[in-house]
Amino acid sequence: MFIEQIPAIFRNQRGLKWRKSHWEKKIYLTFDDGPIPEVTPWVLDLLDSYGIKATFFCVGENVVRNREVYEQILQGGHRIGNHSYNHLNGWHTEKQAYLDNIEKANEILHTDLFRPPHGWMKLCQKRAIRKKYKIILWDVITRDYNPKLPPERVLYNACHYVRNGSIVVFHDSLKTFHNLKLVLPSWIEFCLSKGYEFCLL
Ligand SMILES: [Zn+2]
Repeated sequence: MFIEQIPAIFRNQRGLKWRKSHWEKKIYLTFDDGPIPEVTPWVLDLLDSYGIKATFFCVGENVVRNREVYEQILQGGHRIGNHSYNHLNGWHTEKQAYLDNIEKANEILHTDLFRPPHGWMKLCQKRAIRKKYKIILWDVITRDYNPKLPPERVLYNACHYVRNGSIVVFHDSLKTFHNLKLVLPSWIEFCLSKGYEFCLL
């Protein structure tokens, strides 16, 4: 519970977006860490088959390596977010180096959305970043990245914790692909059956 959906009391920091409106049956699907040719096109095809749009928090160096896949995201009408150039951990990076890394990514990504890799950054970094970006965290983290978690458990997390305004995190990465293939179609079906509308951040 604590990991999948961090309690409201811990979210009380200015300038961080964890969840959107509680009053509308809208949810916000996001993917972190791509784009990569092995996974992202599969995700895009699946989203297309349901007519769903999502927000992709891209790693700059992955975009440079996989331009064509990145173009596919854009052509699909999805939204782009900045996830730094090298997936840097803010805790282990000096403020200016961290900010420079984000700007390097944004020379390619041109977005006003930022999600910190690993979900954490220093307070001084946050203060600087929020002057330029909306900092997007999450309401539901599915833990699709955890190889010890069976897909049934990831699906349970994604279905159990989703609610009005949820910003939901999956990853288009190699280590999540096994879970993603088994979980994402069922989870999308579940959300549609509950009447949720998939929206862009
Ligand atoms: Zn990440």
